[in-house]
Amino acid sequence: MAETNRTARLSSRPTGMLQRDNFEIASEELPEPGDGEFRVRISHISLDPAMRGWVNDAKSYVPPVGIGEVMRAIAVGTVEASRNSKFADGDTVTGLFGVQEYAVSDGSGVIKVDTSKAPPERWIGGLGMPGMTAYFGLTEIAVPNEGETVVVSAASGAVGSIVGQIARIKGCRAVGIAGGAEKCAYVTDELGFDACVDYKADDLRGQLSAACPDGIDVLFENVGGEIHDTCLSLMNFRGRVAICGMISAYNATEPVPGPYNYRSILVNRLNVRGFIVFDFISQYPQAAKQLGEWHGAGKLKIREDVREGGIDAFPDVLNLLYTSGNFGKLVLKV
Ligand code: NDP
Repeated sequence: MAETNRTARLSSRPTGMLQRDNFEIASEELPEPGDGEFRVRISHISLDPAMRGWVNDAKSYVPPVGIGEVMRAIAVGTVEASRNSKFADGDTVTGLFGVQEYAVSDGSGVIKVDTSKAPPERWIGGLGMPGMTAYFGLTEIAVPNEGETVVVSAASGAVGSIVGQIARIKGCRAVGIAGGAEKCAYVTDELGFDACVDYKADDLRGQLSAACPDGIDVLFENVGGEIHDTCLSLMNFRGRVAICGMISAYNATEPVPGPYNYRSILVNRLNVRGFIVFDFISQYPQAAKQLGEWHGAGKLKIREDVREGGIDAFPDVLNLLYTSGNFGKLVLKV
């Protein structure tokens, strides 16, 4: 029997959480590379919170995935059947290959990775896009000074875990916010944050002010909503807020209320700035080198949550991100 390509194509636009019937999951003919192209046998697909936004028919920083298109996703895999002189069979590469088993590429936006330094899935996690997001969001947007207090939400996750560790490397006090005692213990005991606040326990504001006795100088926001509001109420004069994500609102079906403590921006003269990691694409090599060095030196701990089930497990595995079901960078094994 000829080999086939299992694909997940968007078949309808969701309301609220993604449902299985928003996707058609089917076996298709194996794609053949043309001149200048190569095929990638995908081993791991990166599941990212932004994927929920990519299927909305709304203005955003990238066009929506079209109905009938393979779902957009970053993935890692091995080059085969190459007809491109820059990529050889056997190379391990990352790129926007989609939720499928095989992709054909002309090499645009594709990066070769070194699996002798880290396993393939790490190159779509802490050493890939989420690691870059943490690096640029902290060092280029928030710009903390030594001795300052940096607070990061979704602290046990792909981006947040790296943010706090870089903050520590830069001589800051790193305070995480995460859901549950197990994740908070991981953030402090394994990742070395100075403190971690459990937003699922009582009195978030009391816990946070105890963990930040000198207030908050830098807020790296991944969640939004009540957590964001509580942090705003503790910001220091001339504090900086890097708006990286708002995961608590990604599946909202009603308009989401704005921050109640917006006044803190005025009275504290805060610098609040949103960013998308793609803004820094020309500086990726610099970040990759630095993250790789820290990781190699044992200063950066990275955890993946790799799920089995292949293409057929999509989008159920993706939905774990929005229900706190993942612990570490969420990856779908193909
Ligand atoms: P994570 O690995 O952190 O996984 C998501 C985590 O978010 C969950 O494990 C959960 O952690 C937390 N979460 C989910 N829903 C809620 C909620 N309602 N309230 C509080 N916490 C919640 O994901 P990533 O590290 O990949 O992404 C983190 C954020 O960074 C997202 O907002 C994402 O969109 C953003 N991002 C932005 C980029 C950019 O370019 N600006 C690029 C990449 C990511 P817990 O168990 O602690 O509740």
